[in-house]
Amino acid sequence: MQILFLLAKLVMPEGPSIVILKELVQPFKNKKVINVSGNTKVDVAWVAGKKIEDFRSWGKHFLICFDKRTIRIHFMLFGSYRINETKDAAPRLHLEFSNGQLNFYACSVRLIEEAINNVYDWTADVMNDKWSPAKAKRKLREIPSTLACDALLDQNIFAGVGNIIKNEVLYRIRIHPKSKLGKLPAGKLNELVKEARNYSFDFLKWKKAYELKKHWLAHTKKTCHRCDLPIKKEYMGKTNRRTFFCANCQVLYK
Ligand SMILES: [Zn+2]
Repeated sequence: MQILFLLAKLVMPEGPSIVILKELVQPFKNKKVINVSGNTKVDVAWVAGKKIEDFRSWGKHFLICFDKRTIRIHFMLFGSYRINETKDAAPRLHLEFSNGQLNFYACSVRLIEEAINNVYDWTADVMNDKWSPAKAKRKLREIPSTLACDALLDQNIFAGVGNIIKNEVLYRIRIHPKSKLGKLPAGKLNELVKEARNYSFDFLKWKKAYELKKHWLAHTKKTCHRCDLPIKKEYMGKTNRRTFFCANCQVLYK
């Protein structure tokens, strides 16, 4: 129970946090890796002497792109990184450059051998310039019995959306998390898709200003500021994630 409680308290980085990382590592773009090490089981020795062509992100995936191959970092629950400094732990992946170093800890490291444009659908990433609301709506209409709380966490539809964004988006657009997609009026479905991206950019802006939590209206909150009634907390949906909502102003479409 203690471990479960601990897990529930951990915050998995959501898409906007990966976008921040991508911005922070820009000084290493087009730089040659002069040293590589780490306790990852993936073979990364080939990276030594290679130039980083680009850093990209897809949802919660952080991508280090070389000419032919890409290293995919996923922070899962315990992952973290340090730029130009180290943590008191063995790095899963350590990259050294002439102008600094990049360290990743307790994350999942994978190698992508294929061209990443064949692997990733950029139109599904809410933070990407290629994000397609029309495609997202089409995917949502195909799964009418899915609950709104599960749909937002579906990385094939809303890559980058995590539990905080889910809770805040549903509160913002006044949709009860247990609403079925097929029962949402067209306008509400549009709002869902629109706010998944909008809120993600607000998240990015607030996170950069170190004031993300200050703006939470539902996530971890006790009282609905619109109704002055208690915010409920429930583990729900197939995803069984912590869900905060107001049963009074968030309409249940069922
Ligand atoms: Zn309310």
